[in-house]
Amino acid sequence: MREYFSDSLSFYSNYTPAVDVVIFTMCILILILMLTTYINRDRFYFAFRCIFVCVALSGGGSLFFHLWLEMYPTSPLIYLFRLFFHFFTLCTMTSYLAYILIAISSSKRRNELMLVTSFFINLGVIACDIIGSVYHWGFSLDNPPEGGPYSISVFRIVLFLYFAFGVAELAIHKKQLFPQIFKGIMWTLFLSIMILVTEIFNNQSSFALFALAMPMIALLFLMHANPYDAGLGTLDQRAFSDYIEEKYKHHKELAFISVYIPEFEGNIGFPTALKKMIKDFYNKHSRKAVLFKITNGRLIMVIRGRKVNMDRVRFIAELFRDKLEKEYTAYKYDYKLVVTKTYDGLSHGNDYISFIKYIEKSMAFNTIETSSSQQFEDYNDMQYILYELEDITHKRNLDDPRVLVYCQPVFNTTERTYDTAEALMRLKLDRTGIVYPDQFIPLAESHNYIHMLSLIMLNKTCKQIKSLLDNNYIVKRISVNFSVIDVRDENFCMDIQHIIMNTGIPISKVAVEITESHNYNDFLLMKSKINELKEHGILFYLDDFGTGYSNFDRIIELPFDIIKFDRSLVIASSKDRKSETMVNYLAHMFSELNYSVLYEGIEDSKDEEMCENMCAKYLQGYKYSRPIPIEQLTEYFKRSA
Ligand code: C2E
Ligand code: CA
Ligand code: CA
Repeated sequence: MREYFSDSLSFYSNYTPAVDVVIFTMCILILILMLTTYINRDRFYFAFRCIFVCVALSGGGSLFFHLWLEMYPTSPLIYLFRLFFHFFTLCTMTSYLAYILIAISSSKRRNELMLVTSFFINLGVIACDIIGSVYHWGFSLDNPPEGGPYSISVFRIVLFLYFAFGVAELAIHKKQLFPQIFKGIMWTLFLSIMILVTEIFNNQSSFALFALAMPMIALLFLMHANPYDAGLGTLDQRAFSDYIEEKYKHHKELAFISVYIPEFEGNIGFPTALKKMIKDFYNKHSRKAVLFKITNGRLIMVIRGRKVNMDRVRFIAELFRDKLEKEYTAYKYDYKLVVTKTYDGLSHGNDYISFIKYIEKSMAFNTIETSSSQQFEDYNDMQYILYELEDITHKRNLDDPRVLVYCQPVFNTTERTYDTAEALMRLKLDRTGIVYPDQFIPLAESHNYIHMLSLIMLNKTCKQIKSLLDNNYIVKRISVNFSVIDVRDENFCMDIQHIIMNTGIPISKVAVEITESHNYNDFLLMKSKINELKEHGILFYLDDFGTGYSNFDRIIELPFDIIKFDRSLVIASSKDRKSETMVNYLAHMFSELNYSVLYEGIEDSKDEEMCENMCAKYLQGYKYSRPIPIEQLTEYFKRSA
């Protein structure tokens, strides 16, 4: 250690081995802990481990070098220990550099260039050491150089240059790091340099390795602390993701048992009795399992093994279920238990969490379910559809070929002809072919992708109306479905007007279908927006009347033109007289109030006859036509003479 301020032998007496011994032992201990407990095995982890190995070796080198100087002052081994010590001290700096380069996300080429250069610089310093000793201008046992405590050696200069370079790199790329981490590292480096400088001026040589190890301890604290939950002994969601990615990389099979108790979502967390039960259970099975707390209400136990036996995993899950059931009778916490395993294509922790949530969606509470390959396929399809929906939304192409307009012609009972139709959406995707609304409309609505889809539907419908009109077909109007989420969009009215105007058709040739909403704010929004668009001549259909809330006060307040009686009302009317009387009464009332009544889901002549006797202005259903590609409307619509 003496090396840091002098190569003159008379100063070596200022060395005490205590610090080197402590640092060396600490490195070994932390290495063992890292190897046994660490979850985050990414590039950071390996660079970090490298630092520990180098510091440990450098500490060992320093220790032997100084001890030999003390005990066998003429032994040539001293040269070897000194070289060893110098080399691994420099390698420590190279590892730090590697770590910094990863932290600032430097490019792969730059990393390689820097690390190779650094390695050759280290070799160069060692070469200088050897040549200096051979020609007696450097360290020599029989001929100490001049210079005293402040003498400068190549090794020391390079060491300080490394420090300076590291600080500069960090400062230049400050933005790549979290401010707290940046501050923490900078303060540590400052203290390290202060220790080195103080040593030189105080003629000491025992603390240099400590200065070298300080940034490493700071990193351990700042970057690599495993976030164990003290109460449950679980790791968090980030650790879960890292664990899955690491196992995926090495093609390791895993099984998962997820327990979800919605009661504890939010800030509540598990009560003590349940925590104890979980802890005991986990302790019994922890030899091959790791427990993660994903959110306050969700725990996932990951089970590893060379070949995971799903029956056995299911058995463990059932044992856990029995324990939960006991708690359940006491506290009534509803739960869902899902058992699943690794699948090709699910590589991230989040993939598994969302797959588990997908399974839970179709599960009853207080049940246990093992995932099937069919579920995995369905889930994959869903993810694929979601991906395409996102892409459609981002591309903003109003003619996107993936969105298909189908149409169901609607029978006009007074004209005895087809002059209106409803536009219905389909998706045509490469991997799945045609996708029907029940598979993507709820998805698009919940992920906010619906508005772009609606606009594409409107645009394509308008274009087709234009073509029909240009070819002298009689088109009264075609209605397009919109969702409440569309109405919430602040550009709802403007978007619709723009699209219709751009295609050059009369605005009254399109209508908007919308279902009522339970939400009062939505109702107010709908009211103002419908009024605004109606001023420009757009008609409005109230969709699915009879399925939901059917609040008359509100319906009457919204200026709809056509009320669509849902198929469920048609079915009910054909089944019993009471329903028929009621539906008939409602239809009469709407007609009196100047609404047109449309019946949906007319499947046969019986339905048709019944509805014609119940004020039907329009009839729609499979009896007339299934939804067909919009171009085929020409088979139903008449041409003017
Ligand atoms: P909806 O608006 O009530 O559309 C009527 C649905 O009933 C259509 O299903 C249609 O094919 C089906 N249908 C028609 N006639 C009969 C019949 O005689 N019997 C029976 N059982 N069913 C009949 P589709 O096309 O699968 O659409 C389902 C739902 O998806 C639609 O219900 C609508 O809520 C939604 N949807 C479809 N296209 C769009 C769209 O462009 N935008 C939005 N926001 N939603 C859409
Ligand atoms: Ca509709
Ligand atoms: Ca409907």
